[in-house]
Amino acid sequence: MPIKEVFVKTDVYLTCLSHALSTEKEEVMGLLLGHVDQRFDLSLKVGVSYGQSFIENVIILQRSVRQADRVEISPLQLSAAAQEAEKLSIELGKPIRVLGWYHSHPHITVQPSHVDVSTQANYQAMDPDFIGLIFSVFQQEDNEKFANSSLVCFQAVNVDGVLRSREILLSISPPETAAGMEIKTLAKIPLMLFNEEKEHMEKCLSGDLVSKVQNKAVFTQAMCQLLQCCEMPCVSAVLAYEQSLLNNLHRLQLVKQSLDNLTKC
Ligand SMILES: [Zn+2]
Repeated sequence: MPIKEVFVKTDVYLTCLSHALSTEKEEVMGLLLGHVDQRFDLSLKVGVSYGQSFIENVIILQRSVRQADRVEISPLQLSAAAQEAEKLSIELGKPIRVLGWYHSHPHITVQPSHVDVSTQANYQAMDPDFIGLIFSVFQQEDNEKFANSSLVCFQAVNVDGVLRSREILLSISPPETAAGMEIKTLAKIPLMLFNEEKEHMEKCLSGDLVSKVQNKAVFTQAMCQLLQCCEMPCVSAVLAYEQSLLNNLHRLQLVKQSLDNLTKC
């Protein structure tokens, strides 16, 4: 059953995009959780079925390797994600599993590289429904004032023994349930970036006193940047979300009041 369409929830999309925008020099990555529904294509011939993939949640991953063009998922991270999917299955009452991965292409085009396609093929060997998303960010032409971002959804296909990428139709769908779940994931981005910086700094603690002071100063600078560029926008996002919930509560209280008045009449 080939995957024909992928639906990504708005908040999952925003979390992935925020994660992609958090680092301009190196690629970042994460895993996508969701479920696949079987559909029948009646316009062609009876019995032709295809899959619709629904991405419900996202797990942002801490990088073990920090290079511009290299992203890796460790088996440990995959098994932790599978456990998270199991928990979510019970919570949402849907057969949630790890259904894909995403990674960023800072300053490069959105098309999957040869490495991306072969990585994708390896995942598909384990699960044929597995999909890949690529967020191209910080793309800017010379004559443009602002940077652009673009997104592609793909799978690997074997055409006459050669691996190629196949683009899949992607839609961003509004969240149906458990609003606010992704705000929790979004809030994890600064913590994950902090852990990455801390681990990186701890690896550089050897050497003479001057090197140590220099490395600590670089770490402090990175922390200030993290606070300014990531933590503060996250706090603003959470406050805005709180305000939207309060507005919603107020609206519902007004509806309740008018219904109470109606029953009294
Ligand atoms: Zn790539």
